[in-house]
Amino acid sequence: MSIVKRADFADWCRYNGIDACFVEGALLALAPHCWVGGDANTATDAPIGLEAEQAWSLASDVFCEALPALQPIIRRIGKAAPRGLLPRAGKHPQPFTYHRGAGRLPFVSCSYEGRAADLLAVVHEFAHALQLVASRRSPMPPMAREVCAFLGELFLLRWLSLNRPDLQGIIECAWVADNARYLGPDAANLLEALRAPSARYVYRWNYPIARLIAQALLARDDTALIQNLFRSGAGAHEVFAGIEPRDLPRLIPGLLPPMPASAPGDRSAVYRQVGAILLLDLQDDAAAAETAIIDRYASLFEHMRTGTAFLALSPFSHPLGYAVWSFADPGSQTPEMHSCAPFGRHETLFDTLRKTLPHAAGWLPPQPQGRQTR
Ligand SMILES: [Zn+2]
Repeated sequence: MSIVKRADFADWCRYNGIDACFVEGALLALAPHCWVGGDANTATDAPIGLEAEQAWSLASDVFCEALPALQPIIRRIGKAAPRGLLPRAGKHPQPFTYHRGAGRLPFVSCSYEGRAADLLAVVHEFAHALQLVASRRSPMPPMAREVCAFLGELFLLRWLSLNRPDLQGIIECAWVADNARYLGPDAANLLEALRAPSARYVYRWNYPIARLIAQALLARDDTALIQNLFRSGAGAHEVFAGIEPRDLPRLIPGLLPPMPASAPGDRSAVYRQVGAILLLDLQDDAAAAETAIIDRYASLFEHMRTGTAFLALSPFSHPLGYAVWSFADPGSQTPEMHSCAPFGRHETLFDTLRKTLPHAAGWLPPQPQGRQTR
């Protein structure tokens, strides 16, 4: 059975081995987070200093480490898969992997320009090539194919945190920016199809649920299961049959839009900072958001005037959390501090504060030991 051009929502569900309840449950899990897009281009366009072939070889290393049982196939693809990775005028702009039939390695095309998004794309397509070869002659349903490709992207993030921490932040930001599309408009289109089942199939229906299942599978920390998935071909949905909508991650970290760069003396910058602090309060459901506006404003203004407010930004200027502090009496060494960092980002906030204001280290909770850098 293959998915036909004029397929509808029910055909798509059947072919991928899921049902409408699962799709609904998965999409509803997304709703409370209400994705705030951010500036996707800033993150995805960041240069990473790797040539196309270096990116391809890095992808091979990532998969060799993540899926040791598939190493012979991974090495073969890394060495011998025909590929066109250089940007060319008129070349198909979307990356793709073309199945050339049994016994032949797939062809991978990717217009690689050395940006963060391009590395993600190379790893994504490498995963497609691997899933095609490992599944031999058995064609994998499209959603499962995308689960494999998104698993590849997650392997990349994990690999970078251990092997190339210098690239980890940039690639992670690009991955988060991609969520804006996959879990924003793509999820909205799928929800529409769920409500109007006669809608005609479009390939992008496969992305939102696959993105979530890939996260849930990685969280199981079961390498054998994932290796089976890559080999499973038409039976792929049986590998993740045990996953329920409640197992899917609430992965959208509600990133606020980035703060634009501002010139010294630009008054709008102060408004933006106050705005970011208030939005962080609202995201955190914090009691501070209950304070009367005039009192909140006066208190924030005083902290900003006296340099006792700190707003932590991501490498791409997304506000992540803030802290304000005051000394009960002039002689005291340790201030009273209020901090707010929604979505569990307190460590990031404190880390940034320690780096920016070294004297603050003494006031902050001790750094947890043995923590990875991601
Ligand atoms: Zn794909």
